[in-house]
Amino acid sequence: MATVGSLLRQLGFAVVDTRAGQDDGERGAALEYSAFEAAIADLRMRSTRQGPALYQPILLLWAVGRARRGDSRLDTWSTTEREVGRLLSQHGARGERPRPDYPAAALHRAGLWDMHDHRGPVPSAHGDNNIARWFATHQPRTGLPLPVYERMRDSASDRARAVGTLLTYFDGVDPRAVRALLVDVGLDEEATHASAGANGEVPHAVRVAAQYDRLCRSVERDEAARRGRRVPRQSQRPLRSAPAREAVLLRCGGRCENPRCPGQPDDRTDAGQPILEVDHVVEITADGRDHPSQMVALCPNCHAVKTRGSTREAFRVELLKVAARLHQAIRPESGSGARAETVPTPAPTSASASTPASTPRSASTPAFPSASAPERGGTAPGA
Ligand SMILES: [Zn+2]
Repeated sequence: MATVGSLLRQLGFAVVDTRAGQDDGERGAALEYSAFEAAIADLRMRSTRQGPALYQPILLLWAVGRARRGDSRLDTWSTTEREVGRLLSQHGARGERPRPDYPAAALHRAGLWDMHDHRGPVPSAHGDNNIARWFATHQPRTGLPLPVYERMRDSASDRARAVGTLLTYFDGVDPRAVRALLVDVGLDEEATHASAGANGEVPHAVRVAAQYDRLCRSVERDEAARRGRRVPRQSQRPLRSAPAREAVLLRCGGRCENPRCPGQPDDRTDAGQPILEVDHVVEITADGRDHPSQMVALCPNCHAVKTRGSTREAFRVELLKVAARLHQAIRPESGSGARAETVPTPAPTSASASTPASTPRSASTPAFPSASAPERGGTAPGA
């Protein structure tokens, strides 16, 4: 709890502890809903060869389905174990065993799962037999934290978004299997509602938005961690965030983001790669932010205009607005994070190439995408 709590606080979320005074780490603090949304986009999960193990998303989807039906928030452990155990057996696509105690313990420690009338410590989620024994002995009544439960019960849009976020963990799983799980937990309407196709596939836009959100959160977490730390400007090349770059490439969908692109914004290389360069509209050295809300994907021509063209100053101002607008469109609620108001004014630069030859490939302006841009793709990585 301490870890996630402090992380969430760093991100500017309020973490409300309704039972202050008890020992830390021994209860799920009640979360503000926004903190829950952030946390489920960033679950820490055991990895398998095919991707993260799905225990936690499955338990949460089950609980969201219960809330949707108006079932009681907390349920006895025997019921939870039976129902979620069955879901894990039938829908666990990555070799999950029918062990609801794993995700319950892990989510509880992350503050995302309530255990009513329970005080003592819960064993580590990655122990084994003693976790099962602990649950068998204590028989806690468990479920979603109250503010989360109420949102999931009452708000269709929050529910659809939470389901969309949880489904990003199912990347690479057969969509029909995902659909079967959703029907099983009573969230088929959310799936249908969100689905463009008849096969229950999670729509591309929902996946992209959720993945984009996750990348932005990662960028913002790094920003928060760096804040206050001095970064020597002259001696080192500024740090550039790989997730920020990945997010921009995801957002642009393979297309130059200059709305007035005069070239062939959709053209591709023989290998099918988009011909794009990710640009920080305002250089980091000029106090630009290493964040997708201030970055754009440009074709080489637009990029050259932006760095060397005679209209570059006006163009830069325009692109800054474009970046903010595109960011806002895909991630409407979180905005661009805590520093949104500190958008810098673009400072004039010389007309010399903005990408010095000495800048390594990992900088903001890579060579044409090739082997250096493996994360390229309109779909979420791992899809
Ligand atoms: Zn262009």
